[in-house]
Order: sequence, then C-alpha cells, then structure tokens
Amino acid sequence: MVFEGLADKLQQTFKKLRGRGKLTEADVNEAMREVRMALLEADVNFKVVKEFIAKIKERAIGQEVMGSLTPVQHVIKIVNDELTELMGGTQSRIAIASRPPTIVMMVGLQGAGKTTTVAKLANLLVKKQSKRPLLVAADIYRPAAIKQLQVLGEQLDVPVYAAEPGTKPVDIAKQALEYALAHTRDMVLIDTAGRLHINEELMQELKDIKREVKPHEILLVVDAMTGQDAVTVAESFNNELGVDGVILTKLDGDARGGAALSVRAVTGRPIKFVGMGEKLDALETFHPDRMASRILGMGDVLSLIEKAQSAIDLEQAQAMEKKLRKEEFTLDDFLEQLQQVRKLGSFEQILSMLPGMGNLKKLQDIEFDEKELVHVEAIIRSMTKKERRSPDIINGSRRKRIALGSGTRVQDVNRLLKQFTEARKMMKRFQEMQKGAKKGLGFK
Ligand code: GDP
Repeated sequence: MVFEGLADKLQQTFKKLRGRGKLTEADVNEAMREVRMALLEADVNFKVVKEFIAKIKERAIGQEVMGSLTPVQHVIKIVNDELTELMGGTQSRIAIASRPPTIVMMVGLQGAGKTTTVAKLANLLVKKQSKRPLLVAADIYRPAAIKQLQVLGEQLDVPVYAAEPGTKPVDIAKQALEYALAHTRDMVLIDTAGRLHINEELMQELKDIKREVKPHEILLVVDAMTGQDAVTVAESFNNELGVDGVILTKLDGDARGGAALSVRAVTGRPIKFVGMGEKLDALETFHPDRMASRILGMGDVLSLIEKAQSAIDLEQAQAMEKKLRKEEFTLDDFLEQLQQVRKLGSFEQILSMLPGMGNLKKLQDIEFDEKELVHVEAIIRSMTKKERRSPDIINGSRRKRIALGSGTRVQDVNRLLKQFTEARKMMKRFQEMQKGAKKGLGFK
C-alpha cells in the first residue's frame, strides 16, 4: 500500500510525543526534523517539504492550544490540516458542460495507465452518475491500444469510437464528437496518443486536438510509481498544454507517495482521481482530507462506508435477513454473503482504511487469508444443489467427492461445514434473543 513507510514513520514520531503533557519548542523541532526526513524518504519534492515544515512550525510553536486538545493532538491536527492543504484542500470534480456532451481529453505518456483509466472513468461515470459515455480510441501509436479500449468498452457495455486505420488523431476526435451528438452520448472520453517521452510531436498533436475539439477538461494520467518523474511530467504537460487535473495511477503498488504529495504544490493542478488496481472498478475519487487521515493513521472510514454502500445490494441484504428470520439460510446464501464482502476489496485494503489498523497486517498470525476465501468458494461450488440446501446429508463419501472436485482436502470441507453450522447456530440464537427482547423478556 502506498504511503506505508511514511505513515509508519509519522505515527512513530507522534507516539513518542504522546506521553508529554506540555510540548517545548525543542520537542516540536525534534518532531519536525523527523517529519521532514520521513517526507523526503517518501520522495516528496524537496522544496515542497521545506515549505511544509516551515508552515507547521509557525503554527505549532507559540500558538494557544485549543481547549479540547492535548498539545500533541494539537500538533497532529496541524499536520493533518497542512497535509490536506498540500494535496489540494477539497475534492476537485470534473467540470460538466452545460450543454452535453462534456468532452474530456485524457493525456499522458505510454504505460502510465491512460487507456485503462479511460475505461475506469467511464465505469465510474456510468455507475455513480448515470452518464452515457463514448470512448474514443485516438491512441494510434501504441500497438494494441485501440483493440485494448474496444475490449474494455465491451466489458463495460460502453461504445467505443474507432476510425479507419491511417486517420489522424485530430480527425478521429472530430468524427467522434459528431458520433456522440448523433447517438446522444453525454460524455466523450478521448484516449489520446501517448509516447515514451515528452516530445515536440506529441505536444503538437495534443494541442491540435485541444484547438479543434475544445475539451471541457484535460486530465493528465501519471504513474505514481515513477515518483518525482511523475511530478516533472505533470509540470511539462501543464506548461505546454495546460491541464485541469491529474489522475495518479498505481497507488495500490509500493509507490512511496511522493508524487501524490507534490503534484498539487508543484503544478497548482489538483489530483482528481487515483488508480488503486488493474480492475475496472479500481478508480477512486481523490479526497485530500481522507488521504491525510489515512497517512496519519486516523483511518478513512468514510471511503469504506461509501465502498460498502456501492458494493452491497440493499435488496439482496433485505432478502437475506428474511431468510435468516425464517431459518432458511443455506450454504448458497453463505457463499453470497462472502462474495458481498469480497466486493469491498481485499482484506488488506479494508483494514488499511480502519483507524489504527494500518499496522495490523504486520501481525502474521492474523487469519485474513484471501486464499481461504477462494477455497470456500470452490468447496461450495463443488456441492450439489441438494447438499447446499441440506448440508446434513453430506456424509463421508460426499465429503471426499467435494474435496476432490474443489481441489481441497477433506479437512477443509469439514472445517467449512463446521463454520457454517456454527454461523447458523449463532444466528438462530441471535434471532431468539431479538424475539425475547421484543417481548420484553430481556436477554438471557
Ligand atoms: P497506457 O499506455 O498509458 O494507455 O497504459 P495502459 O492503460 O495500457 O496501462 C499500462 C499498465 O498499467 C497496464 O498493465 C495496466 O493494467 C496497469 N495499470 C493501470 N492503472 C493501474 C493502477 O491503478 N494500478 C495498477 N496496479 N496497475 C495499473
């Protein structure tokens, strides 16, 4: 997870201060020295770090501490505020045109994740804002980029405009606009051509497209793994072409996070979205305040709740509750529930958003094993319908067959059945307690 190193160091620094009732100037200076080191190690731009530390010191020293906070909490609050400010303060949205279609031009170097991000953004716009996007395949230089976009469009059920081979990118973009108008698509996302490096030809081509189609929004896609290079790339694109916002990809990897903390300060342009994985649903709106809280170990419960709301189907949840009440909860339902939880992301991702949980995954003996979930799924899928409904009939020979079919061991099947029986028992007890409480009998 990105920022892991930085988060660890900052949290350690503040932990050291925690025992003190009053902070002296020397305490603050020492803490700030550590914060500076941690930021530099996270590959944050040198100038940005210098200004950041100066601001915090100015606010932390010689200021009245707010009544409800301890001196240490006060310093943490200042660091949290300033980190948020550094990343842009508030969330930055895409400008939507008053008259559709809204034209979004996606630019970036080859390999940054531009094509993938075009598809992810379309997915987000469809799911969250009920938009009708059109994807435009204008990256004619990277072999296979057009095909890649077509495949992604098909997966999302979103149309992709591709022109005859040999058509110039600027003409592709113009034709796509006409297509969007004719087919009432309200957002046009143009996947422009990248290059391995910034060069004259690339910039000229992008400027031509900008002049001809007048995009409402130019979004630059940069790879967070490239650290300060990402910031330099952003600076060049912004100076040459002008960009409205940045999308930082590959934040799920072990990038040290420097780019996320420097882009805004260096270019003056906000990060609007971040890529958190290769899958099409792995694009998140960037919230500076939530990211700052995550770095400081205060958790990102809001993002987690949002994730849960979009991943969990309310109707399904209600149906499940009814089944529980009627005691019809089967292995099929068990599997369905597990899958709902998995939609939230990996356990590691979920844990990293909970306050104070950042360090939890270091505990090796904690059983949050992704593989185990895959096993559970395979085991249940190897059962017959009847077995899933009435697990009691699963005798020794059936267990052997199920283990063989799912590529697991009989012990694994046994364990799963036991877990299921326990879960069902617990639910039953819970139901009885609720009934009892309703009758005014209280809990047993
Ligand atoms: P383009 O040349 O800029 O169009 O790059 P692509 O869209 O083809 O992406 C390059 C590679 O980066 C692909 O393998 C993508 O799956 C991967 N990628 C893109 N975004 C992310 C991300 O947020 N996280 C991870 N882990 N991989 C990403």
